[in-house]
Amino acid sequence: ANLMKNKVALVTGGSSGIGRGAALKLAENGARVALLDLNAEDAMEVKREIEDLGSKAIIVEADVSKTEDMEQAFKKVFEEWGQLDFVFSNAGINGVISPIEDMSIDEFDTTIHTNLRGTFLTVKNAIPYMKENGGSIVITSSVNGNRTFNKFGFSAYSTSKAGQVAFGKMAALELARYKIRVNMICPGAIDTNIDSNTFPENENLKKITIPIEYPEGEHPLTGEAGKPDQVGDLVLFLASNLSSHITGTKVYIDGAESLL
Ligand code: NAD
Repeated sequence: ANLMKNKVALVTGGSSGIGRGAALKLAENGARVALLDLNAEDAMEVKREIEDLGSKAIIVEADVSKTEDMEQAFKKVFEEWGQLDFVFSNAGINGVISPIEDMSIDEFDTTIHTNLRGTFLTVKNAIPYMKENGGSIVITSSVNGNRTFNKFGFSAYSTSKAGQVAFGKMAALELARYKIRVNMICPGAIDTNIDSNTFPENENLKKITIPIEYPEGEHPLTGEAGKPDQVGDLVLFLASNLSSHITGTKVYIDGAESLL
């Protein structure tokens, strides 16, 4: 299919996991893709994969939580291709998983800075380049932006993910006048590197004795975590004109995990 023919997409966290899955789907459908990531080395491999699909990619090494990095990143993409049609605000971390009483302010801030400030900077910097022709923005929240994890330690992560949903709704409202659509996706567990990219678990968690049972049948639909490729299909739909009347909404992609 050619749903993204002649389009330019920017994907944050494009080196790995969900970002890579989406980047490949977009490229398969004709988009040129800018891979924005802290990890430029892994982005090289994704760039090659995109080129094998017959499309083009550039790598932009940047930290989504840094103002200057993000200004430069968008400038670079626009200088390269002269247009910007789709932005996937997806880079994120689990951060330190720790009960609130043991979590430091720096630990809390790091998660909020990457996930929430990063989304703010991504959307803000997209506006000047997209406002003339309109376009689409997708933000990766999580099922845990809507409910809590059924275990201790995810307060910073859940807060950042809930914040992304609220922020995305406001952005959809404000940017409708530029014909820029903004939607959120809420994945359940997806098979990516996020756990290995994360800091080691906090020792304090092990001290907690209150048992909290995780529900049985964590993934009702298939029994296993979803694949980045499946999330990529949803991102492609929200990026393309197939979703031209959809904005300000969130879509779960979790095999019914959130219903438990
Ligand atoms: P991943 O670790 O495989 O990929 C994340 C990518 O983001 C990495 O390439 C990493 O280098 C990059 N990144 C991290 N911090 C960055 C920063 N400050 N600036 C630029 N790039 C940065 O993880 P993933 O699972 O693909 O995560 C993508 C998004 O999906 C995250 O927002 C995560 O919260 C969300 N999510 C993941 C799951 C899951 O189960 N994997 C579930 C729900 C939501």
